[in-house]
Amino acid sequence: MVKALLIVMDGAGDRALKELGGKTPLEVARKPNMDGLAARGITGLMYAIAPGIRPGSDTAHLAIFGYDPYATYSGRGAFEALGAGLELGEGDVAFRTNFATVNEDWVVVDRRAGRYIEGAEELEKALNEIRIESHPEVEIVFKHTVEHRGVLILRGTSLSNKVSDVDPHKLGVRVPKAEPLDNDPSSKVTAEVLNEFTKKSYEVLSKHPLNKERERKGLPPANIVLARGAGKLPKVPSLREKYGLKAATIAGITLIKGVSRALGMEVLEVKGATGGLNTDVNAKFSKALEALNSGYDLVFLHIKGTDAASHDGNVRAKVSMIERIDRALGGFLSKVDLSDLLITITSDHATPITVRDHTGDAVPILMAWDELVSDEVSSFSERACMRGGLHVIRGTDLMNLIANFLGKLEKFGE
Ligand code: ZN
Ligand code: ZN
Repeated sequence: MVKALLIVMDGAGDRALKELGGKTPLEVARKPNMDGLAARGITGLMYAIAPGIRPGSDTAHLAIFGYDPYATYSGRGAFEALGAGLELGEGDVAFRTNFATVNEDWVVVDRRAGRYIEGAEELEKALNEIRIESHPEVEIVFKHTVEHRGVLILRGTSLSNKVSDVDPHKLGVRVPKAEPLDNDPSSKVTAEVLNEFTKKSYEVLSKHPLNKERERKGLPPANIVLARGAGKLPKVPSLREKYGLKAATIAGITLIKGVSRALGMEVLEVKGATGGLNTDVNAKFSKALEALNSGYDLVFLHIKGTDAASHDGNVRAKVSMIERIDRALGGFLSKVDLSDLLITITSDHATPITVRDHTGDAVPILMAWDELVSDEVSSFSERACMRGGLHVIRGTDLMNLIANFLGKLEKFGE
């Protein structure tokens, strides 16, 4: 039985960079293993959503897994909550949050409350005791994740994601009130609940002993929770229902874990998978091998470091991250056989060093498996893959191609 490994190097795509003599990071990186797969397989270009559309990593991944992001995307908060291991019901709404520091007029002094909050689980506990008096039927579920970050779920029967952020996204301004973004009564209720929660978060946190201690030490108190990115659980069939694929995800960041869980994929935890430049790529590939040997049809391996380096505008870190991934890939390839494994390597979008953010450029893609008719391309880059046999595809084509090669798709017609 043929199985599939899909590797996404987040934000790996780039542009012709002056500092690299007009080449891209993928062109200058030493990556014999990716180039070897390109030579053995078939290559092309991909637009995750559509030509020129600038994707978020969440919408890009929805598309790559075969879901129309315009029809299914219902806010980032839901993915963050699922990725943090929380359960989400149909009536719930979830937010990403920051612990922040505000003064007594609620003017933001530090959006991250110093970033490192020792003992944040005590603050988490206090926040979970908050009761919403204006709407007592709504329950609060708060979880601290890392550093100043966390997730808030408002648990109810018909709450809405059509509410504005409480986070002003900048310093020196007052915390805004959440406003309903449409005329649905549930949006008004959700905004009221969020405003009451925000007010109570300030009351509870500003007098919390942990913050009194922080103030004594000269640290900014984590005295308010700022919520943003309201999201609802998307109503979609699972990857298994849609493509007949039993799938697992290996990822370091909560957003991608959450997207995967929303689509019914199993998230496998890997020690040392940080989602940063220091991630243990070898451990992730080892886990992928283990998963492929234990009954999954599709293993999805997500690596964030390439995107992180790009947002920092650090071209050297981007090139060396690609090289590290390639070395780990080499170790993996020595243990597998392409007669029964289809390997796909691509990127969810470009994050050009010159832009430091996601763009709607095409990204390279390669697929390697012994039965594929190969093309003449022998390296993996934006330029080389222009000549590939896959030509130009969209993200929503990818799962069809993979499921087709794995023999999982029903025939259309007779
Ligand atoms: Zn991305
Ligand atoms: Zn990014």
